[in-house]
Amino acid sequence: MPIHEKSLIAPADLLTTDKLVVDGIDVSGHWNTMIKPRYISDYDPDFQQTIQGYGGGENVHRCWQCGSCTNSCTVYAINTDFNPRYWIYLVNIGLKEELLKDKDIIWQCVSCNKCTNICPKDVRPEGVMKALQHWLEDEGHVPVSSSTKFDEEFTRQCLERGRIEDTEVIMNFFRKTGQDIVALVKSGWLGIMVARMNNLPLLREGRIGAFLARLPILGPLKMGWAMLVKPRTKSWGCTGEVLRQYVEEQKRLARG
Ligand code: SF4
Ligand code: SF4
Repeated sequence: MPIHEKSLIAPADLLTTDKLVVDGIDVSGHWNTMIKPRYISDYDPDFQQTIQGYGGGENVHRCWQCGSCTNSCTVYAINTDFNPRYWIYLVNIGLKEELLKDKDIIWQCVSCNKCTNICPKDVRPEGVMKALQHWLEDEGHVPVSSSTKFDEEFTRQCLERGRIEDTEVIMNFFRKTGQDIVALVKSGWLGIMVARMNNLPLLREGRIGAFLARLPILGPLKMGWAMLVKPRTKSWGCTGEVLRQYVEEQKRLARG
């Protein structure tokens, strides 16, 4: 085929014949430059469907490549390698291998949703970024992210007991993400938190009664009690089991 933008083509794919006459017209040299046909054979015809199976990826097929998502993207403004439009294109034509080249930056989406607000086709690009990140984790292309570990702990408690205990979520999240809880406590953030809960200004103002009433005693006691007893929502058993099966089924469907 003839070419229009030579600089975009790999030199090895450019074909030029030094001497060529066609219908009596001399088209030697660059006048006859052609580009080698390129065939894409390593695409996955099911890739679009796979991403649609993840929460947020359902509308990926609607994209008409206008580029508004990328133009409005917060991360693209500081890193032009972060290109939601391009990744959505790769999903829709099944070019998994190309997408994997960018696996280490897709997680940088900050979920500002500017892309989703501007998209004229309701593709919900922010959701597609999330779906891609989860797919990359499920397939082992990237380590499981901290936010996924948080989601797992949150979901586990919801399914088991129909409620969550904040302290347990945070403690288990710290453990799963390899954080040293003792070091964190020693680093001073707990003191700051307690100081804020204590409402020290009240003490400085001499309002002793109000200060004592706000001391963080009842809250931590309740938290400690919940950590030990692990209360469940009343009659949760069957509901939790149905929800667990539903979540498992959705995961199976997403993985094909
Ligand atoms: S704004 Fe929507 S339709 Fe336009 S390229 Fe992005 S995802 Fe596709
Ligand atoms: S949600 Fe993510 S992809 Fe969308 S504009 Fe914000 S940073 Fe970009």
